[in-house]
Amino acid sequence: MNGQLLTGPNGVAGEWGHNPLPWTPEAEPRKRPCFCGRYGCIETFLSGTGLSLTHKLRTGQQQPAHLIVENARNGDPQAIDTLQQYLEHLARGLAAVINVLDPDIIVLGDGMSNAEQIYRELPGKLASYVFGGECDTPIAKALHGDSSGVRGAAWLANV
Ligand SMILES: [Zn+2]
Repeated sequence: MNGQLLTGPNGVAGEWGHNPLPWTPEAEPRKRPCFCGRYGCIETFLSGTGLSLTHKLRTGQQQPAHLIVENARNGDPQAIDTLQQYLEHLARGLAAVINVLDPDIIVLGDGMSNAEQIYRELPGKLASYVFGGECDTPIAKALHGDSSGVRGAAWLANV
């Protein structure tokens, strides 16, 4: 924030992945245990593992996230359906961030950030969840892709 890393008094600023996913039916979170000990954290929907679980719950098929994304790109209707649900989950999760912080940009850097469909289709979905019904927040892929988290951790160790 303003060029400075925002950590907060508890050192947890930015851990939005361990909030509950907004606008989720009550039964759904119980199907998604999180490593933090709770159920239904945003991460259990938006990680690659979360995408695989969404696909399994919708189709009964266990597939790795990269294969679901690839199959969706190649026109597989079930994979397209799962990926559309993923994008709705992502829109709900990021809308909560936008409604609280309204950042200048959102940069995605985990393994799912490699799904090119995100950058094409997510902006159109965000507006329906952001307060006021409009959203101009740019969504960008991290410069160093899915190794950005590791690079950031290494950078912090040297600060
Ligand atoms: Zn959690």
